[in-house]
Amino acid sequence: MSEEGLIDWDSMTFSFTPTDVMYRATCNQGDAWQPGEMEPYGDITISPAAGVLNYGQGLFEGMKAQRSVNGGIVLFRPERNGARLADGARRLGMPPVPVEMFLDAIEQVVAANARWVPPTGKGALYIRPVLWGTGAILGVAPAPEYTFMIYVCPVGPYFKGGMHPIALKVSDEYHRAAPGGSGAVKAIGNYAPGMMPSKNAKSDGFAEIIYLDAVEHRYIEEVGAANFFCVKDGVIYTPELTGTILPGITRASIIELAIHKGYKVVEEKVDIQFVLEADECFCAGTAAVISPIGAICQGDVCTTYCNNQVGAITRELYDALTGIQTQVESDEFGWIRAVPVAEISAE
Ligand SMILES: *Cc1c(COP(=O)(O)O)cnc(C)c1O
Repeated sequence: MSEEGLIDWDSMTFSFTPTDVMYRATCNQGDAWQPGEMEPYGDITISPAAGVLNYGQGLFEGMKAQRSVNGGIVLFRPERNGARLADGARRLGMPPVPVEMFLDAIEQVVAANARWVPPTGKGALYIRPVLWGTGAILGVAPAPEYTFMIYVCPVGPYFKGGMHPIALKVSDEYHRAAPGGSGAVKAIGNYAPGMMPSKNAKSDGFAEIIYLDAVEHRYIEEVGAANFFCVKDGVIYTPELTGTILPGITRASIIELAIHKGYKVVEEKVDIQFVLEADECFCAGTAAVISPIGAICQGDVCTTYCNNQVGAITRELYDALTGIQTQVESDEFGWIRAVPVAEISAE
């Protein structure tokens, strides 16, 4: 069975495609996690009284496996996703999956679905780990049983035909997270409330919403489900992690990379008025890595950046980070983890 014959890589978009196998482990409240097993990808059975379905006791992660230019399959800082999932589990009253077990599970799922990893430059294998309270529970309390699953899905390149700057709208109506809430973890319940605002912004011609902070309604928090950056006079600014912002792994990597390249990076509260006068803006997350921002509108006031072209520093950071991720550039920071795969060409 040749992989070329099966999958049309060039028609692939950022949408859902089922793959061969998924991983599942379960654990009772109070017990330690035991490694799970691989099973064919498919529907699962769950109690209607499951904690995740009734009270949103659930978390997700998002990461990518890529075909490196050397031919191997590589992950980008997966231990960070494992640590973030464990932090989220503690916040939502779930037993944290040990990071070593997380990494082992990720490697198993990717290796077992290796034929779904696109060739270099044709996209990635998106990896979706989830942790849910699956035990039945009537009262609002942690579920008696937990399920940790991982499924994967091939996705096409985020920017087909090159990067295009996006236009964003500042929301003066909605906030994403409040101090003391769950904004800093990938709690499933954080995402549905953003769907309607984002859909409305899209029907007005914007790619996404910019959320300001819920207390003063003045400082940028995030762009939909991505972190925000701007550049002014050669200095890079990004909102500091105050507990309402999701600590992106792309964000952390851009900061380290930019400092290494000699840029000054300032993590502080980033005022929307300051941003409207910035030189370049971009947002960052696993899916797109970096998306240049061409325009930001708040009410009737719109600012355009770099004549709606990709800014020079935005481009430099995008090229450097994606170069490391596909091993075009050397991995000076030790961010790449190779997945041991016994490549099978025929079965
Ligand atoms: C996942 C996510 C990000 C980006 O995190 P990465 O680790 O870089 O993918 C940013 N903001 C929100 C709200 C997210 O859910």
